[in-house]
Amino acid sequence: MALLSIKDLFVGYRTIMGTLHVLDDVNLEINKGEIVGIVGESGSGKSTLGQAIARVLPGNAIASGSIMVDGVNLLELSEKEMENYRGTTVFMILQNPFTSLNPVKTVGYQLMEAARIRMERSGEKYSEDRAYEMAIQALKDLRFPDPEIIMLRYPHQLSGGQIQRVVLAMSLILRPKILIADEPTSALDVTIQAQVINLFKQLSKEMETAILFITHDISLAYVISTRLVVLYAGRIMEDGDIESVIREPMHPYTQGLIAGVPDLSKFVSGKIKLQSIPGNPPSFLDLPSGCKFHPRCPYVKDICKVQEPKLTRVNNRIVRCWLYGG
Ligand code: SF4
Ligand code: MG
Repeated sequence: MALLSIKDLFVGYRTIMGTLHVLDDVNLEINKGEIVGIVGESGSGKSTLGQAIARVLPGNAIASGSIMVDGVNLLELSEKEMENYRGTTVFMILQNPFTSLNPVKTVGYQLMEAARIRMERSGEKYSEDRAYEMAIQALKDLRFPDPEIIMLRYPHQLSGGQIQRVVLAMSLILRPKILIADEPTSALDVTIQAQVINLFKQLSKEMETAILFITHDISLAYVISTRLVVLYAGRIMEDGDIESVIREPMHPYTQGLIAGVPDLSKFVSGKIKLQSIPGNPPSFLDLPSGCKFHPRCPYVKDICKVQEPKLTRVNNRIVRCWLYGG
């Protein structure tokens, strides 16, 4: 059974201009230990997908469908019930990691609190010494040269990159079943970025953590992921094993994103400038009819303009496009 099973997820935001349909018809199953790169241009709904799973959507959001973890639909839990799942079942590293920390508590207090949660939920008796040790170790793993000093700091005394690493350290302590990371390496320098990627891979291998790695950078997704999910206008357009999607993208949008990538070694080193697709992604207030990609698609047919294709399984790939039967 899949660890995470999302069915018919819809997320909209009520605004004074009307309801924005940000995610629609999202169907996704994720297994233990998978690292799933969630990619798409900005405004494709990537962050919203993460926020829906972690149940941290803004107050004006409406969500329907189901997000099942361990036989429980997270969307149906009360805020209080959700507290038992947050952290150790689902943990999200937000794009602005400042919001994951309490501004009036020290880093040490917050990391030791994470250690307490992890110990209590795994039935271990709380030990302050052990919590301190876990916090120091996690900070060392994130390459803080002076973890004892960082423990005494308040969030506002740290740089953006340090905050990001503290939140990553927290995720190492919590060891959630599902870790959602929204552009988690964007504020980090290249060496630390590589370290974080290794830590994620280690987590997925050793703890079977499922990781949803949200990024606009496909080459970064390629380095870390085992699977790729491509979002466009709030829809999954393609979903499959990372190697095969990169080598043989099926959806015209994915093809556009990685067109002109002559060899994967360059791709891996991040040296390739991704092709930009003519046109812009649509506004969620005014989505096109039919296939949401049709105004930018070089293969558009009549049916594409009137009827939206469904997610269809083609061999080991899932794709939403009339070229493959829709
Ligand atoms: Fe292009 Fe039609 Fe496929 Fe949409 S459904 S991606 S418009 S071919
Ligand atoms: Mg985002």
